[in-house]
Amino acid sequence: MARIVLGTRMAVFASMPHLKLIVVDEEHDPSYKSGEGARYSARDLAVYRARLNGAKVILGSATPSLESWYHSRPAAEGGRYLRLEMPSRVGANAVLPNIAGVLPSTAGVLPLVRRVDMSHQPKGCVISPPLLDAIGQRIARGEQSMVFLNRRGYAPVLSCSDCDWKSTCPHCSAYRVFHKIDRSLRCHHCGFSERVPRACPDCGSLDIAPVGRGTERLEEQLALLLGGISRPDGSAVRIARIDADTTKLKGSLETQLAQVHSGEVDVLVGTQMIAKGHDFRRITLVAAINPDGALFSSDFRSPERLFGLLMQAAGRAGRDASNTSRSEMWVQTFHPTHPLYEALKQHDYPAFAQSQLVEREQAGMPPFSFQALVRADARTQEAAQAFLNAASQASLEVPELAAWRAHVSLYPAVPMSIARVANVERAQMLLECSSRTALQRFLSGWQTTLHASRAKPECKGLLRWAVDVDPLLI
Ligand SMILES: [Zn+2]
Ligand SMILES: [Zn+2]
Repeated sequence: MARIVLGTRMAVFASMPHLKLIVVDEEHDPSYKSGEGARYSARDLAVYRARLNGAKVILGSATPSLESWYHSRPAAEGGRYLRLEMPSRVGANAVLPNIAGVLPSTAGVLPLVRRVDMSHQPKGCVISPPLLDAIGQRIARGEQSMVFLNRRGYAPVLSCSDCDWKSTCPHCSAYRVFHKIDRSLRCHHCGFSERVPRACPDCGSLDIAPVGRGTERLEEQLALLLGGISRPDGSAVRIARIDADTTKLKGSLETQLAQVHSGEVDVLVGTQMIAKGHDFRRITLVAAINPDGALFSSDFRSPERLFGLLMQAAGRAGRDASNTSRSEMWVQTFHPTHPLYEALKQHDYPAFAQSQLVEREQAGMPPFSFQALVRADARTQEAAQAFLNAASQASLEVPELAAWRAHVSLYPAVPMSIARVANVERAQMLLECSSRTALQRFLSGWQTTLHASRAKPECKGLLRWAVDVDPLLI
């Protein structure tokens, strides 16, 4: 019988009669939540299972989820978890960098965070001159840089300058992304792909051009801008890109990572994939090209995810102790004084968490309330919304639900942010409640009503529906 089981989120179900300890590393990672088939949060199940078995749980993270952080406030204030802090960075010899309080830590210096105010840079520039200069200096010294942008492909949309045609996906309410490498327009939602047209499909104009940029275009631009700089041995600069497009083949990610490790690559370009976890020892500069979008997203968890990502990314710089003194994290932004970046500069997760928790408490959002989403897929947007609204209305007429219904706010059905994917219309309804018990009782009692609502004539064309408790994406 195995004494230790290592695994991904499924491992939380492993049969272990003498279970005494569960370690959930990077507990904030959204991949612990399973959104298809059996829906569960492996992190929350770990806590639940440990309670049933009388085992201990360690949730480890340098940027905990705000839920876990809030639960670990002092017991006198109602905290249920014990917060173990590890104030200094784990040095080169440790194997598990983020498990708080478990490992002896050697002193490590956190990278210096530099914010570039993009409103003071040449108009339309993608990589600001000071950042470019800093990358160039590192190439000349034989050090590595990592540049990330959260969008793959060459450009997110192709547009005609004569008639305003755009590369919309015929099956989704989204644009198809231009991939220059194989001259394709690909929908990242349904996979629909076509060769790039030579002329505008609507007006025949040849003047169709990419708008915006993804990692492929960034790689091309960096190659152009850094082309004149040589490495210490006089050879030409080498730029590599790692994202979902370059790592489709089995084993290709490992090969590419090995090239970075061996020092063959001077500048690594990629999506957030490269910011997570990989231990690149010779990287002394990490740059976020355009992270501002998440500051003003309609999803209230966006700032939390951005902060976690930037902290993780900063952690990639200077992991080799001999390089830490000069390692830097660069952030290009139009909002350099935003509190999120201020906290990042200080590497101050507690300050960031505190400001977010104040906002969430004022707005009555998790962890100060509990949420569930009901999602409906249908042939038409009307049917999807009608189903949700009908089920909501019908819940008022069920006497057994009344006691719980009184505590739960049901918002009107709305289209999902990408309303149509692969010709399926999608809508959602948010439920909010200050009591988890009331929410759970309501949801379980409501199932019958939801099933019954399918039969209503206005719901014709409904394909499926599902309840998501503690939704991570809203
Ligand atoms: Zn046109
Ligand atoms: Zn599509």
